Amino acid sequence: MRKPPEGLFARLLDSLTDMYALVLDQDLRITYANVSFLEHFGFKWEEIIGRPCQDLGRPFLGTDNLPVGFCPEELSPWYPARTLLTREAQDKVQVYDCTLNHLEGRRGAAWTLWSLRDVTHRFRLESRVRQMDELERNLVQASMDGIIVNDMLGNVLIFNNGAGKILGYTPEEVIGKIKVYKFYPDKTAHEIKRLIYDPARGGVGILENYETQARHQDGSLVPIWLSARLLHEDAREVGIVGYFRDLRERRRLETELLRNERLATLGKMVAHISHEIKNPLITIGGFAAQLGRRTDLPENARRKLSLIHQEVQRLEKFLTDMSTFTRGAPPQKTPGDLPALIREVAELMDSSFKERGVVFHLYAQGLIPPFAFDSGQIRQVLLNLFKNALESMPQGGDLTVNAQVQYDDLVLKITDTGHGIPPEQLHNLFTPFFTTKEGGTGLGLTICRGLISQHQGEIAVESAVDCGTTCAIRLPLVSA
Ligand code: ADP
Ligand code: MG
Repeated sequence: MRKPPEGLFARLLDSLTDMYALVLDQDLRITYANVSFLEHFGFKWEEIIGRPCQDLGRPFLGTDNLPVGFCPEELSPWYPARTLLTREAQDKVQVYDCTLNHLEGRRGAAWTLWSLRDVTHRFRLESRVRQMDELERNLVQASMDGIIVNDMLGNVLIFNNGAGKILGYTPEEVIGKIKVYKFYPDKTAHEIKRLIYDPARGGVGILENYETQARHQDGSLVPIWLSARLLHEDAREVGIVGYFRDLRERRRLETELLRNERLATLGKMVAHISHEIKNPLITIGGFAAQLGRRTDLPENARRKLSLIHQEVQRLEKFLTDMSTFTRGAPPQKTPGDLPALIREVAELMDSSFKERGVVFHLYAQGLIPPFAFDSGQIRQVLLNLFKNALESMPQGGDLTVNAQVQYDDLVLKITDTGHGIPPEQLHNLFTPFFTTKEGGTGLGLTICRGLISQHQGEIAVESAVDCGTTCAIRLPLVSA
């Protein structure tokens, strides 16, 4: 008999508590059995060392239901091999994941490492998932919430469509391929596991309504609300089921609410400040204009007075903008002809268009039914958007308005061929006071959004640098 493994190798095998290992020599004699093996199968070291492994009896059944023994009699075609074997012990069927590895030693010595891992619980969980009946399967699939079931090693066994929608994967891409912790940012999976065992979080084995983040396939983080439960079988932990809900829409609404509240507060302040500033401004502007008309003043002084007058006008305009956007007067809706209003506004700006070399086009596709809107407010929206378009085309270009009925809405697209907006600025456009223009107020789009949302409509901006910008407005066609 060859020398059994000793030293580091033996200690290594003994340290593997969840792996049962036998080392066989070329004659299939047992030269080593690790501690776990002896304990699990109830052997004493002296009983088995040196014996041919076939002598140990035939406790296993192969997949073809034939008895296998502690190692196959014919080793050669088997290794390296991996197979599932079953064994009856105390009226229960245990399932083992078995691997045979050929170990090449020095001077031509060769051993075989026969290692087994008990995978009964995982196997049962998997077969339970396979056996889940149609109704249950449909229920899980139909859930809008994400549902993921995984075993204790993190292998995903169930991944429903809800989870797919939130995380951006199909079940086929996930099951058996991606470990569950991949769906969370660093350390989050670890934290979740810790919380599941924390009695303060709904009890040991239960995690309820935990707000955290999941990682979408595209790498972005999705805020979620997670509940999870440990799954047991015969008091042993076999897996975890997680239910989670997408919080993105909710977050968006919360931010909007907060924004509206802030605007309301700001509105009160602005009303107060405007009131205090407007009267002295009118006096300053009025006197400056009056003095500017005097012919006995030197030219230099008159120029300065005219500057004062201009700047005062600018301030007045600013105050008017500020109060419009914060006042939020409810719209006075009357049935009207929107394309006619668009033409009217374009005519109003005609000289500015010509000055810049901007050509205006209006396409009203199909029949636009008369519908109710506040023409004063919509006129202001159009003026603001046309002005922005104009300012983006200092060298001229096209300003195109497209009006179209889509289902129950009127969709208005205002497109320019101007310098466009860099992607990183897109999400700031509707923030009050955001401007990239010298002398801009940064209130135009904020005002537009306020007015459009008072009409239960929506406004969005799409843009490409150097190509142009489109503002799309959707207004519900409330019957006139
Ligand atoms: P203001 O025009 O006073 O700057 P707005 O709220 O009307 O304020 O617009 C905010 C910003 O959005 C502008 O400063 C500009 O950077 C950008 N913007 C709006 N409309 C357009 C457009 N049609 N083309 C390019 N940039 C635009
Ligand atoms: Mg503007």
